[in-house]
Amino acid sequence: MQYTEYGKTGKQVSAVGFGGMRFDMDKSYEENADLLHYARSLGVNYFDTAPGYFNGKSEEIFGVAIKEMTGDYYIATKGSPMVFDTAQKALDGIRISLDRLGMDKIDFYHIWCLRKLEHYEIAMRPGGLYEGVLKAKEEGLVEHIVCSTHMPGHEVRTILSKDEFEGVLLGMNIINFPYRWDGVLAAREKGCGVVAMNPLAGGAIPKYADKLGFLSAEGETPVEAALRFNICCPQINVSLVGFTNKEEIEMACRIAEDAKPMSEEELQGLRAHLSKNMDEICTACGYCLDSCPEGIPIPSLMMVYNHKALFKKNMEEIYDRLRHEYSWGVLVGRDGMAEKCIQCGKCEEACTQHLPIIERLQEMARWEAELKAMAEANKK
Ligand code: SF4
Ligand code: SF4
Repeated sequence: MQYTEYGKTGKQVSAVGFGGMRFDMDKSYEENADLLHYARSLGVNYFDTAPGYFNGKSEEIFGVAIKEMTGDYYIATKGSPMVFDTAQKALDGIRISLDRLGMDKIDFYHIWCLRKLEHYEIAMRPGGLYEGVLKAKEEGLVEHIVCSTHMPGHEVRTILSKDEFEGVLLGMNIINFPYRWDGVLAAREKGCGVVAMNPLAGGAIPKYADKLGFLSAEGETPVEAALRFNICCPQINVSLVGFTNKEEIEMACRIAEDAKPMSEEELQGLRAHLSKNMDEICTACGYCLDSCPEGIPIPSLMMVYNHKALFKKNMEEIYDRLRHEYSWGVLVGRDGMAEKCIQCGKCEEACTQHLPIIERLQEMARWEAELKAMAEANKK
């Protein structure tokens, strides 16, 4: 395992970090905690959770694991400015997290999920989340204040410019890195730690692996290439992977041991392949899930739209895909959902990829109408 110093904190953190957002909740706490122990045994020392992962259960699983954890390791958790909208709520939330984790102090506390500058401003206003976390730091409950963001690189640069954070966690991977890269550079310039999450683009890379061969070097799968991109990137201290089994942990740790960073030539080749649209795919992160007052299954629809945005399928192929999804796939029983959109914009506010969801749904509603017309014509 490779270790580097997280920003200027003096803490040596492992190249692979354990993201606690993909536990198998059909399994017991102990079985899930065993995964954390396994990662620790392979040298992982950075563990990331959040109160919002499985409604606090992720932090509780960490708490079970921490009882038996040995050596130097670091725990990161988070608080959202939208949930902790006062300093007191932030302090209360931190105490709840500490209680679940069974710890006296959180090593890295994230101002969580800054998807746009307005969220940052809400977090920083007097009497708000940041003030509460500062107070927690004074009380010895938090060691380092950092932030997590899904904003584009230049906006990450803006929020890091005021020296309020010791590090940043951002969603970055082999297919969206041009979109966030300036944020990574800004963090390095400021001496902040850099943690990257979502290395497999929310499952999009394994799902479309057969179309993403251009990502890989010889003898490498697109999944391995994506993990290598994040884990071996010299500008990234920790690459979080949401592990669900030991094989995934072994693969990531093997890459951290053996693999080489992408060469300048490989990076140039990637940039050449990554058209503008590659930054515009739905990564199925799920952040828009609860936003829609009409109950529209936005990630499912946007994942179907990926076939157009990512692979430039023609309309015939798109219609085939839609028929398949309505009959057997993610849209079974959900006919006509795209046209239910009332254009309130809540999903676009929530979207971590800043996708033009309303426009896409309008287009998909036209596809649905066309499909219906074709089916009617076939009946006659
Ligand atoms: S804009 Fe449309 S899809 Fe988005 S939240 Fe509003 S109704 Fe739902
Ligand atoms: S539409 Fe945006 S927020 Fe929703 S799942 Fe896709 S990328 Fe995530």
